[in-house]
Amino acid sequence: MIRNIPSLALLLFSGLIFQQTNAQTDERIYEIIDSISADRIEADIRKLAGFGTRNTFSDTISDTRGIGAARRWIKSEFDNISNNCDNCLDVFYQKDFVTTEDGERIPHDAWVVNVVAVQRGTKYPNRYIIMSGDIDSRASNTMDFETDAPGANDNASGMAGAMEAARVLSQYEFESSVVYVGLSGEEQGLFGGKGLAEYAKENNWEIIGVLNNDMIGNIEGVDGVIDNRTFRIFSEPVPPNESERERTMRRFYGGEVDGISRQLARYVHKTTETYMPEMNPMMIYRLDRFGRGGHHRPFNDLGFAGIRIMEAHENYNRQHQDIRTENGIEYGDVIEGVNFDYAEKLTAVNAINMASLAWAPPAPENVEIGGIVEPSAKLRWDKVEADIAGYKIYWRETTEAQWQYSRFVGDVNEFTLDGIVIDNFFFGVATVGKDGHESVVVFPSGVFR
Ligand SMILES: [Zn+2]
Repeated sequence: MIRNIPSLALLLFSGLIFQQTNAQTDERIYEIIDSISADRIEADIRKLAGFGTRNTFSDTISDTRGIGAARRWIKSEFDNISNNCDNCLDVFYQKDFVTTEDGERIPHDAWVVNVVAVQRGTKYPNRYIIMSGDIDSRASNTMDFETDAPGANDNASGMAGAMEAARVLSQYEFESSVVYVGLSGEEQGLFGGKGLAEYAKENNWEIIGVLNNDMIGNIEGVDGVIDNRTFRIFSEPVPPNESERERTMRRFYGGEVDGISRQLARYVHKTTETYMPEMNPMMIYRLDRFGRGGHHRPFNDLGFAGIRIMEAHENYNRQHQDIRTENGIEYGDVIEGVNFDYAEKLTAVNAINMASLAWAPPAPENVEIGGIVEPSAKLRWDKVEADIAGYKIYWRETTEAQWQYSRFVGDVNEFTLDGIVIDNFFFGVATVGKDGHESVVVFPSGVFR
């Protein structure tokens, strides 16, 4: 008889766990993960590599070779995807003219052309979550726009990922807009990203974040390490265009590792751990690889949140190299260097984060914190104008990388965390939607007494 008591308790307990778990996950997210196809990604990467070179300054007339053929094909694919979702995508070219005056790596004047596909949000059409890949590739010499440069991993993989995410996510409706883009001119100076970031600014886009995918298909490091589970999330600490006042505030109130891009990175890390626990996301606390660049940076330059998602182990023999064999080593960014199952996983990471963010309500604004020389921390914020579940306060010890603790506090605009001393933690607030999707966490930008 006694044995029945713990088993009953266990039953009740496991029922409780199930309910709690259930409330924090959304079945549709698992459906999205399952729908992303390695076969379709492979077909797209093969097609892109087949254009010979996609150097930004290569041929624009041919239908089979060069950047022109590549971007026209990408646009036609987005158009096809749109046809399959009742014209749910607004597909267009966004372009800027660059001349040899604009940089040292420009062999001749040319249009830098991006391909943009916007899936308009039903409730917040002017809020955008963006996934980018790159159209362009390069040979050993960036100025060489004629030699074969298949760019299978750098960056047909990211481009194919954005196209596949569009195929899958276009089957759903979102409250915020989801954007899939192919950027150009990456290798010669991040021109495409700069152009689109400026376009977004001019059109007053409210950008939730940019997920820049650059090399998401290589699992074999140049040192021989093979790893198909780990990937990197690069994010800069604080926006480069912050004001002097913000810099001064940070000295006294903290926030050195809590800028908007870092919060976006934490969001991606958390979503991945929740829905794809087999993956191993690595937060990298820097803008990009040491001294190197990527297309999220021009968005960061204008104050938008943006991160780089990429493989963990790079193979330098396959990056920016003419196809050749030298001293028995094979060089070149060829199709054989891409693992399509891995590209599928990283595409799924993007897709589930875009879905979560596009289903989530807007983040709270004007988050402020108080509690100086008091035993409890206090937070207050402006309520969002939406029918939501409420708000969640997050906090963590000052040396922790991820938010450790959280408390759902309901649909209020202020809350006191009894017994939590402000000095010993960092805090933030997120909005929680009725279906459980959360906004990015907002770090306080003001202080009150
Ligand atoms: Zn590159």
